[in-house]
Amino acid sequence: MSDFIPVNTPLLIGNEKKYLNQCIDTGWISSEGPFVQEFEEKFSAKMGREYGVAVANGTVALECAVRALDLQPGDEVIMPSFTIISCIQALFNNQLKPVLVDSLLDTWNMDVSSIRAKITNKTKAIMVVHTYGLPVKMDEILSLAKEFNLKIIEDAAEAHGLMYKGKPCGSFGDISIFSFYPNKLITTGEGGMIVMNNQDLYKQCRYLRNLAFDNPRFVHQDLGYNFRMSNIQAALGLAQLEKLDEFIERKHEMGLYYQQGLQNLDKVQCPVAETSYAQNIYWVFGLVTKKIKATKIMQALAQKNIGTRPFFYPMHLQPVLTKMGLFKQQQYPQAEYISQYGFYLPSGLALTQNEIKRVIEAVQSVIEEI
Ligand SMILES: *Cc1c(COP(=O)(O)O)cnc(C)c1O
Repeated sequence: MSDFIPVNTPLLIGNEKKYLNQCIDTGWISSEGPFVQEFEEKFSAKMGREYGVAVANGTVALECAVRALDLQPGDEVIMPSFTIISCIQALFNNQLKPVLVDSLLDTWNMDVSSIRAKITNKTKAIMVVHTYGLPVKMDEILSLAKEFNLKIIEDAAEAHGLMYKGKPCGSFGDISIFSFYPNKLITTGEGGMIVMNNQDLYKQCRYLRNLAFDNPRFVHQDLGYNFRMSNIQAALGLAQLEKLDEFIERKHEMGLYYQQGLQNLDKVQCPVAETSYAQNIYWVFGLVTKKIKATKIMQALAQKNIGTRPFFYPMHLQPVLTKMGLFKQQQYPQAEYISQYGFYLPSGLALTQNEIKRVIEAVQSVIEEI
């Protein structure tokens, strides 16, 4: 039996140890350490932004970003049904009302053409989520935002270095966020960052991140959070950032290699390699089968010692939300389809060419057997 190939293994091959040792040698391990600011400055600049606020993870980055926009309770925010729970949680925790839209069968990103019909006089923002390696069609989003005076919250958690028409994802939102979870393009173990150009939003995020400490220090005007990132996490982040260009190139190469090996299978749909507005960076290599349940293929691959992960489960079907009586009678058929028939293959940066080859052969044989 050949070795297990996990769905993700990060690559820590740069200055990680050196910078971590500096944390230990200097005693700077808390969020007060110098790597935090350096990471914020270098990362936000790389993403084309003025400011960055490093936080504990991508989920709280979203919550803090939404809070900083100062929307009113009950305001509506349009977002895709097909995404991670973090997105909708950020809205609920800020007393906002999510309004869902469907996603596209080919790019797996939100269907921007269905947004206009969902806009009411309570709509105040659109939350876009760049999904699995391709960006949302931002031109349409930007023009809708302008026409209806809506804020854009941009979830670029999976999109470090992804370009939309030559501009980095994470540079489009009034406020945008990234995650540095180990399966993301670069990692800090756990971590996230909020980026923006507006100085007031920057100050507000820093304030909320740090328990809304003010002056005098222990006298509070607001309730904030402890969402701080430690110097240890930022040390990792800085070392990883130095490798980002290399990592993007590697992901792209891995994606094309998978694509070559799998695109001739007529029972599965590979990711779209390229659109008129972007080149896929293959954050993960997803597959959507033609009518074979993803769980069936995933089980068969597990038998062959290959790790996989299912696609997101749509928000309108989440038990925790339907129990609350939400999204009754709402249907987002394309989100449901890709969720049922989609999964992704091992996509970690530490994956070798031989391992990818083994995965391709396993997928081919599993599909043939079914
Ligand atoms: C990973 C991810 C998040 C959450 O980030 P964490 O750091 O894991 O909290 C949010 N949105 C999207 C689209 C993600 O992929």
